[in-house]
Amino acid sequence: MAAEASSIIFENVTKRFPIGKGNSVEALTDLHLSVGKGELMAITGPSGSGKTTALRLVAGLETPDSGKVLVDGLDMAPVPPHARGVSMVFQSHALYPHLSARENLAFGLEIQKLPRAEIAGRIGRVAKILGVEKILDKRPDDLSGGERQRIALGRAIVSQPRILLLDEPFSSLDPQLRTELRDEIRKLRREFGLTILLVTHDQPDALALSDRIAVIHAGRLEQVDLPEKIYRFPSNQFVASFFGEMNFLRGRVRNGIWELPLEGDQVIQIPIATVEVINLIENKDLALGFRPEAIRIVDEHSNLAGNVMVTIRVEVISSEFAGSIHRLRGKIGAETIGFNARNWIPKQFVRVDLDLSEALFFDSATGNSLKTINI
Ligand code: ATP
Repeated sequence: MAAEASSIIFENVTKRFPIGKGNSVEALTDLHLSVGKGELMAITGPSGSGKTTALRLVAGLETPDSGKVLVDGLDMAPVPPHARGVSMVFQSHALYPHLSARENLAFGLEIQKLPRAEIAGRIGRVAKILGVEKILDKRPDDLSGGERQRIALGRAIVSQPRILLLDEPFSSLDPQLRTELRDEIRKLRREFGLTILLVTHDQPDALALSDRIAVIHAGRLEQVDLPEKIYRFPSNQFVASFFGEMNFLRGRVRNGIWELPLEGDQVIQIPIATVEVINLIENKDLALGFRPEAIRIVDEHSNLAGNVMVTIRVEVISSEFAGSIHRLRGKIGAETIGFNARNWIPKQFVRVDLDLSEALFFDSATGNSLKTINI
């Protein structure tokens, strides 16, 4: 979504935590990231990469060691958490156990001394969107996990924040409930025009909900892009492997041709056509990266006709049934790859077509993708 203006800006933010004996861990390093007004951005990355720290900096629960966090153009350094117009929902929905769902929703509003009618109106509106009207008089212990998470979301929304921060909000829920809650979040966005920062490990959540995704690794921003771009054109091997499965075949460029020698005199060859980059990559080790869906078993019905293909012989080493497909693992030379089959009759060798329009080269030394190469 093309956002009109930035809602949140991390301006070269570095955050360190002391870990004793004068040492510290750098949770975020020089993070520069803008989130548009009304945008939903997912922040994703492995455990310990700095995702929660980024949210806590926006909420005012942490302060940067250097750099600034801006909200609607204002430096948040002097603004206390309660005055930031920001609400946060955590993985563990910390509802007050002795209060009913309705009282949990009302709690913060009563502290603000809002009129009763205003409180009831806000709760009614949010409860309707979240489909929790019938459970408002139950206590948290009598609610299911999904219901509790809905109340926690509702409690964050009734205060009418500008920004909603969600930290792994679905991680304790089963897939069906996750899908339902994703719908609720879409509804809340539409209704309240919220800017949302969503921290998640879960790729389907990030891909399904986000306008853009930021991938961080060890405190550094690796890529921020549209979900489809992250998936199809990852900027490096880390992003490629973190987001879905990607296979890599390591070869070398000679005379403008990427080559991977196999047993006997077999060799996979892919000409690299963009003349101006050949000088840069001649004799370089490049990994050819492709997702399982970029290859099809040759004797399966294929709709890839017309695309640029290379056909490769694969030794099948395992297969597992996954409902709509069979997931196979196979060997190409010394490399193991993953691919799918719609129907699978076990055999030792298959020939596969690799759709080169779905493949990317990565510099094996740096891991960076070489987007300028057209094949
Ligand atoms: P996870 O997915 O496991 O929640 P994360 O990506 O959210 O991880 P953070 O919680 O932001 O990562 O932590 C980033 C780094 O900072 C980690 O190395 C973590 O141990 C460290 N860290 C975070 N908070 C503190 C703290 N209060 N004191 C010391 N170290 C901390």
